[in-house]
Amino acid sequence: MTFESLGLSPALLKALADQNYTQPYPIQMEAIPAILNKKDVLGIAQTGSGKTAAYVLPILMNLQDIAPSQNRYVNILVLVPTRELAMQVSEVFYKLGKDLPRRIKTMAVYGGVSINPQMMRMNGVNVLIATPGRLLELTESNAVHLSDIDTLVLDEADKMLNIGFKEEMNRIIALLPKRRQNLLFSATLNEDITAINQILLHNPLVIKIEPEEDYFDLIDQLGYFVSEERKGPLLRYIIKSQDLQQVLVFASSVYKADTVADKLRKNGIKATAIHSKKSQGARTEALSKFKSGDLRVLVATDLISRGIDIKFLPHVINYELPRSPKDYIHRIGRTGRAESPGQAISLVSPEELHHFRIIQKKMGKPITMIDSEGINLKGF
Ligand code: AMP
Repeated sequence: MTFESLGLSPALLKALADQNYTQPYPIQMEAIPAILNKKDVLGIAQTGSGKTAAYVLPILMNLQDIAPSQNRYVNILVLVPTRELAMQVSEVFYKLGKDLPRRIKTMAVYGGVSINPQMMRMNGVNVLIATPGRLLELTESNAVHLSDIDTLVLDEADKMLNIGFKEEMNRIIALLPKRRQNLLFSATLNEDITAINQILLHNPLVIKIEPEEDYFDLIDQLGYFVSEERKGPLLRYIIKSQDLQQVLVFASSVYKADTVADKLRKNGIKATAIHSKKSQGARTEALSKFKSGDLRVLVATDLISRGIDIKFLPHVINYELPRSPKDYIHRIGRTGRAESPGQAISLVSPEELHHFRIIQKKMGKPITMIDSEGINLKGF
């Protein structure tokens, strides 16, 4: 199947060629025709499956036929859980929409930065990508109106419908017109989708792209059995002795992320922490330096475990285990992408061992464990 046969316009085909997308991915083959036909879609697919372009392309195409947004009435609303994902999605809209005959104005809005410039730039926005809290602030000050929304997208839908966002999501949904197209995408989704069907979806096309059987085989998963006190030295030992050059380390709290990054720097390893307490400027800079290979280690909380696309990231290390097997999947899914293999290492303390067994059971396969007791960590 080709992108041409999916009915995309020459301008979009040109943008795809510029991005070196030669063939549609499976989720794109199924979602694009349905979205062009204005159907609701529930897409369950891993990050890395191409789910962003699967909704961006048909939305851009449909937008060519919609009366342009006026007076701060936006056409398309994409809701995402984090600022980083908002920026990433808006880049995809920009890259794929750049050659369209009718210019599409895309804007990403999120908290943590001043609201005034966002208010001032809102006029004529067609596609708004937003985190819920900031979107509500903007609607409350009449900087944006949602009553003409043609299509609503929830990216990382399970997170957006999670208890943490529930109240904000209810308030946002109440501001949307009843008749609209709904597109929900997520790598993981709770079994019970009836609630989602009732509130959000109208006779949807459900697309489930099973990760290829060997998807997780692309990721070499490894566990080190290690006491809590030896985790820091072991982390530095792994990075230095294997000469790892681009490593994403996950910690369970803001405090821990900061301490781990500090210790790495003190030991001569270029590292920065990224978490919710950092300024937006610092977050953006850290992520872009890390993506470009300028920063050797990024120490993150689960803030960036979802949806963030880092090409060819070879190593993910869980300094501490995530709370749920679902988060484990999101975290290790940062590596082993785009057909390039990756390694996911977990540092497992005695207290975490039971939890690690549960994760392994959910993953459906045992993970090789190394006892770090015999490793000499002196000097690390
Ligand atoms: P996503 O799942 O949307 O985060 O996309 C994962 C990665 O796949 C991104 O880096 C995209 O640029 C890339 N991608 C998406 N669709 C295609 C395609 N049809 N051909 C090649 N690369 C693609």
